Amino acid sequence: MRPAVFFDRDGVLNEDDGYTFDPNKIRWVVGAQQAIKAVNDAGYFAFVVTNQSGVARGFYEERHVRNLHEWMSHELAVIGAHIDAFEYCPHHPDGLIAQYRVLCNCRKPQPGMIKALLERYPVDVDGSFLIGDKQSDLVAAQAVGIAAYLFDGANLHAFITPLLDERSPDPRASSTVA
Ligand SMILES: [Mg+2]
Ligand SMILES: [Zn+2]
Repeated sequence: MRPAVFFDRDGVLNEDDGYTFDPNKIRWVVGAQQAIKAVNDAGYFAFVVTNQSGVARGFYEERHVRNLHEWMSHELAVIGAHIDAFEYCPHHPDGLIAQYRVLCNCRKPQPGMIKALLERYPVDVDGSFLIGDKQSDLVAAQAVGIAAYLFDGANLHAFITPLLDERSPDPRASSTVA
């Protein structure tokens, strides 16, 4: 069992420019890649949980979402960092695309994406936390008893460092990571 950091994506890892899906237009938030590296090095799982209603709205397709996440993974690999899993919700109740026009249980503030990750990975819930830039992110985490912090948008590495230090549960955690 290891704790996890759940990152919202838009507005936390990359600047929220509105329905971003093109790697050529993505702008990393300052300190985001270093923050993920710090999470890796501290022995936490690093997860992304992101609402992508642009799929339901017909602005882009699921393959574009996955493509962007692959691109982000490649970028992170350059500095030896990684995301353990990306979860996205392509739905919206008012979507244009019929197959995605549903009231789902994964669109935050619903906790479905977090729950799915908790089922797939051996996560220490008590030691875990989420970082989001909207109240709906925090509500999703709190619904499953996970601490949550509202990112101020400045420097993600500076923001997360004290959280990792203060919450760092087990000094052995970092040594268990190869
Ligand atoms: Mg966001
Ligand atoms: Zn959904």
